[in-house]
Amino acid sequence: MATVTLKDLRKSFGPDEVIHGIDMEIADGEFIVIVGPSGCGKSTLLRMVAGLETVTGGEVLIGGERANDKEPMDRDIAMVFQNYALYPHMTVAQNMGYGLKIAGLSKPEIATKVEAAAELLQLDGLLDRRPKQLSGGQRQRVAMGRAIVREPSVFLFDEPLSNLDAKLRVQMRLEIKELQSKLGVTALYVTHDQVEAMTMADRMIVMNAGVAEQIGTPMEVYETPQSLFAAQFIGSPA
Ligand code: ADP
Ligand code: MG
Repeated sequence: MATVTLKDLRKSFGPDEVIHGIDMEIADGEFIVIVGPSGCGKSTLLRMVAGLETVTGGEVLIGGERANDKEPMDRDIAMVFQNYALYPHMTVAQNMGYGLKIAGLSKPEIATKVEAAAELLQLDGLLDRRPKQLSGGQRQRVAMGRAIVREPSVFLFDEPLSNLDAKLRVQMRLEIKELQSKLGVTALYVTHDQVEAMTMADRMIVMNAGVAEQIGTPMEVYETPQSLFAAQFIGSPA
């Protein structure tokens, strides 16, 4: 497990600052949801934690260590994206094991980790299938499997459920929460969906135009919004 600390975290693209100084201490094993409208900076914030965007101001600490200049592979994190981009020509097992192969693990080591993850995700019977032979929910689980096999301390999710239909989305929210608590990992989860945020978060960051308008538990934000934006955004239906 690992803490994540954001210290006056900022991001500029050229002359335009899009993240305006975010401070937050995230505890070991906490499930944090970053919620806000399209374009407010959620993905950029997450990508700085992942090491996929450079930090242009402030600091990211993972497990208490400054991570600003660490490569994504050296950060003890794994990321699950919205368009989970499985390799169509590879089997489920190959998709899940690919990162480990790149990292230089032996075939038996890879097989052991992939089998353990597949069992956890209820994909055991499906390891030889190709992505197109899977349902949307199964594909999403393969994408999570790819992250799990690397045994990271921090999971980053960027709108992982937005391509799924409403019923499956509700089911996958529960699965992700269960998995996160079973693994005991810290999670940062991005969504524009207020209901998703309210139901999944231990604490949420309500973002608007690159600013954290409020950080708190769903109840705190719902009952005592600290800005008009927080009140309207959390109060309005998804
Ligand atoms: P969200 O994920 O909340 O929809 P983003 O983090 O993708 O928002 O974007 C935040 C802001 O940063 C937007 O104004 C977007 O246009 C801008 N932005 C994101 N990526 C880049 C980039 N590579 N170059 C320039 N501007 C960018
Ligand atoms: Mg985004």
